[in-house]
Amino acid sequence: MRYSKAFIQTKASPKNVQDIDKKDDEIVSYQLMARSGMIRKLASGIYEWLPLGLKVLQKVENIIRQEMNKKGCLEVLLPALQPKELWEKSGRWGIYGKELVRLKDRNDREFCLGPTHEEIVTNMVANQINSYRELPFILYQFQTKFRDEIRPRFGVMRSREFLMKDAYSFDKTDKDATKSYQDMYDAYSNIFKNCGLKFVIVEADSGAIGGNFSHEFMVLAETGESSIASCECGYAANTEKALGYISKNNNAELEKIMEKVETKNRKSIEDVSSFLSQNPEKFIKSLVYICDGKLVMVLVRGDREINEIKLANHLKSTDLRLATNKEILEKLGVEIGFLGPIGMDKNKIKIKIVADESIKYLKNAITGANKKDFHFVNVNLNRDFKIAEFVDLVLVKEGDNCKKCGKTLNFSRGIEVGHIFKLGTKYSKTMGAEYLDADGQKKEIVMGCYGIGVSRVVAATIEQNNDEKGIIWPFSLSPYQIGVICLDIKNEELFKIAQNIHDKLEKAGYEVL
Ligand code: ATP
Ligand code: MG
Repeated sequence: MRYSKAFIQTKASPKNVQDIDKKDDEIVSYQLMARSGMIRKLASGIYEWLPLGLKVLQKVENIIRQEMNKKGCLEVLLPALQPKELWEKSGRWGIYGKELVRLKDRNDREFCLGPTHEEIVTNMVANQINSYRELPFILYQFQTKFRDEIRPRFGVMRSREFLMKDAYSFDKTDKDATKSYQDMYDAYSNIFKNCGLKFVIVEADSGAIGGNFSHEFMVLAETGESSIASCECGYAANTEKALGYISKNNNAELEKIMEKVETKNRKSIEDVSSFLSQNPEKFIKSLVYICDGKLVMVLVRGDREINEIKLANHLKSTDLRLATNKEILEKLGVEIGFLGPIGMDKNKIKIKIVADESIKYLKNAITGANKKDFHFVNVNLNRDFKIAEFVDLVLVKEGDNCKKCGKTLNFSRGIEVGHIFKLGTKYSKTMGAEYLDADGQKKEIVMGCYGIGVSRVVAATIEQNNDEKGIIWPFSLSPYQIGVICLDIKNEELFKIAQNIHDKLEKAGYEVL
């Protein structure tokens, strides 16, 4: 291929387009992709793949296809345009929110552009499969996904239209589904290895399903949006999910008499702790959330933050947010800053209280007195208030220890390029994907889903492999593997030699520029 014929556009893109979203420029992979003419931005989160970029994208696609086929997976192509009815059936039309791109046809029928394909594939399988003899199988596709991301940024890393490889496994039993999951885990490991990437596999949040049946594949990069907590012992998790360490703080301190003290106008833990000359670790922080319309009080040690993903999972909530000052005042009659668990059971409006494990071992703690300008000191669990159940709800942080082995956790950043997930019967139940077992019993198909952000893999590869001179391609993804440079194209003899070398290399199976 002649460079001059390869449509390698290294001119800066038109200014008006560049200006649409400056956030892209914050990341080196976008700058290099744009400068080398791999992609061009059309609008925020929407990109054109030029020949050079598409060559790389297709290489990633082929590596994935090879590994999927090795596991016996079958390729399909499902529609991007999806009827609302299927999404209502799964219950997601109402809860998916603004990320779902919704539209109407000329007859006012509603559709969405698929951000993912569980509905379509489960519906198709439900219509086709009858017998246990037809199971198991794994279907996969390469398909453009649409997500109206709240913050599209970093080029194709987080865009609104991107290429995904998604796969769905269908099994008879939970045990079989675990095997499919393991197969995909292995295939994904090979895929990212073959792409030449340095990556880690971390335990991820598996939402309402629970268990350790969700893993994310993270390409290690400083600029990654995901935070990873890992330990020498092998434990590694997305900090969205990482187990919180409980400081036992099991001191021999004697329980003192509880007192109400005036803390006029001091609301924040910082202010009250300096006023009372006590560490934030002595505090029981009381936060009020609105969980699917109901009030919930959440207790955590004063120096820790709540991990709202863990909280939502624990409460099985689809709609969780902090209550506003106004709502708290209206419903509980207390101002933010003076809230606490003591006496909440006597409140007119019943409020559920959930507590993080971090408060379990506190002695003579401090908490709001549910009265403006007052706090309680020397508060002790069981004596002064009771908690039915302690849950791990904290966000892990630097300095925390591994809950599995006790050593200090390490923190690093990564780019999530793949996500595997054991779904169980979540979709087969709602979409009616059943089969008849050998004994004639009707059973739900057990599913798994598996995604790779193909476009994101390209950007992540560049993010991990570049220097001041530009992109350093892993051999397997390089758009061209060999460049032949004729140092004087006016010299006919030399030009012939160069052309000859090019032709021979091309014949030998290399991509030559
Ligand atoms: P994220 O947490 O980054 O938003 P996600 O959990 O929404 O990702 P999944 O629904 O698991 O992602 O999608 C599978 C894969 O698709 C992800 O692992 C990621 O590589 C890719 N992906 C997700 N959203 C985007 C996006 N907006 N642009 C490009 N790739 C994406
Ligand atoms: Mg997302």
